[in-house]
Amino acid sequence: MKSRVIQDEPEPTDPIDAPAAAGASHGDKEQKMEATTMPAAQADGLRGSEADGPVVAAHELNRRYGEGETAVDALRGVSLQVGTGKLTAVMGPSGSGKSTLMHILAGLDQPTSGEVTIAGTSIGELNDTELTKLRREHIGFIFQFFNLLPMLTAEENVVLPLSLAGEKPDAEWVDELMKRVGLSERSGHRPSELSGGQQQRVAIGRALVGRPTIVFADEPTGNLDSKTGGEILDLMRGSVETYRQTTVMVTHDPRAAAIADRILFLADGEIVHDLARSDEHEVIAVMEGLTR
Ligand code: ADP
Ligand code: MG
Repeated sequence: MKSRVIQDEPEPTDPIDAPAAAGASHGDKEQKMEATTMPAAQADGLRGSEADGPVVAAHELNRRYGEGETAVDALRGVSLQVGTGKLTAVMGPSGSGKSTLMHILAGLDQPTSGEVTIAGTSIGELNDTELTKLRREHIGFIFQFFNLLPMLTAEENVVLPLSLAGEKPDAEWVDELMKRVGLSERSGHRPSELSGGQQQRVAIGRALVGRPTIVFADEPTGNLDSKTGGEILDLMRGSVETYRQTTVMVTHDPRAAAIADRILFLADGEIVHDLARSDEHEVIAVMEGLTR
């Protein structure tokens, strides 16, 4: 069976390319798809790390693509700490380095220099197996184009991270999650039988099922109409409120940024603004300042 992988731009580090495609399109990072996985059994223990400071921190990240005259410096000295139990939005023009930053924070790509710490572990020091394990335990990832497995039902897609980790899903938790994402009635449907919004709901369920330390979402509403996008934002915000789910969300949309507790603005690979919770108009004013 063919897996359909749709991407808006060449992003070789996208993990959930479907096992069917493993080793085919992205042979250099075969294990990337495991990034969303995380055994539920460890969830409670992870919450204990909150007292120890930020669960994800980056120090002086640089990322250069290519070499010589054509080299692109996608990140230039980015440092940040992600607030536990908070929703952090990352905004910035196309090409400002948002996806590069997300992929590096999630351990899907490596910085040219600099350090990322996840739940107290500096990930640059890990070997591939250790990194895969850390991603599986600590990270959920939501993509603009959902990246669901077409041959699996909605519920099978949601529990996939646990299945891959050899974990037995807790039926009550899966039921609660399917209800929360509004898919109880659609649990047996395949992605092709679901709307875009419903597919993104599945992807959110999949990111949350392992109760990860942190969820990254790269433009989760970018491929949805405004009303559906609003419902997805409500769901993202709801998971922060209900589960204290630490979340970092990339977005173009000022309305999306307005649900965040903090908004970081990237321009040309640098963090140029760091706003506390702001309304849509304040966000727009900062964006206009960036493009002037
Ligand atoms: P954003 O997500 O904000 O649109 P990206 O992180 O995708 O930005 O890209 C930042 C910069 O790095 C852009 O100039 C982009 O063209 C470049 N870039 C991204 N990925 C690659 C790659 N694999 N090879 C070369 N250049 C890349
Ligand atoms: Mg991007």
